[in-house]
Amino acid sequence: MAVNGLADRLASVRASIADVARDAGRDPNELTTIVVTKFQPASLVAQLAHLGVRDVGENRHQEGQAKAAELAPLGLRWHFVGQLQSKKAKQVREYASVIHSVDRPALVDALRSDEASVDCFVQVNLTDDPARGGVPPSELEALVTHVADTPGLRLLGLMAVAPLGEPARPAFAQVRVLSERILRIVPEARNLSMGMSHDFREAILEGATHLRIGSAITGNRPDAG
Ligand SMILES: *Cc1c(COP(=O)(O)O)cnc(C)c1O
Repeated sequence: MAVNGLADRLASVRASIADVARDAGRDPNELTTIVVTKFQPASLVAQLAHLGVRDVGENRHQEGQAKAAELAPLGLRWHFVGQLQSKKAKQVREYASVIHSVDRPALVDALRSDEASVDCFVQVNLTDDPARGGVPPSELEALVTHVADTPGLRLLGLMAVAPLGEPARPAFAQVRVLSERILRIVPEARNLSMGMSHDFREAILEGATHLRIGSAITGNRPDAG
């Protein structure tokens, strides 16, 4: 029952993504769907892998590190999507293929490496609340320049979370506009990580390339915080 529920939800979300992409005149294959598995047991991540999921997301270092180690034989790509403390940065680099939450100069410095390169997004804060994570739009270009000048980081683009209690589409449109500004600094950084369970349709319409979808696929989180 639980497994079939998971397969059904995954199929249904994938079908919606493909429908919306086609309605928007976009190729569904250009979208990467990351299933956010925070608070879910490693066994559920393994089920997702058997259903063909390759990209999974976590927002807490200890949980992500433990699951990535346990499930290493599955060859999944781990995306780190949560707020990241600078002192944990080096450890997250070891298992994450992509870090979506680069949001301040100290974290950029902590992620520096002369040996290996990690893909990353700069997260933009679309609210006035610093606790939500992300760089304020006024400081975006300076931070992107800092990333571009730092060895070991390959910038894919911008990440954002739509503000609570506001329509998502204008927020995502704002990210798309900000993205045009950073392309002058890093021309390859044209990806947009935006869109969650309740707003992935709006995100696709505004050009999202990386969707971060949790509960619509996994079901309710056991310990939703
Ligand atoms: C939890 C989380 C998601 C997924 O949220 P859902 O509403 O469950 O789809 C996406 N992005 C980030 C940063 C998250 O923390």
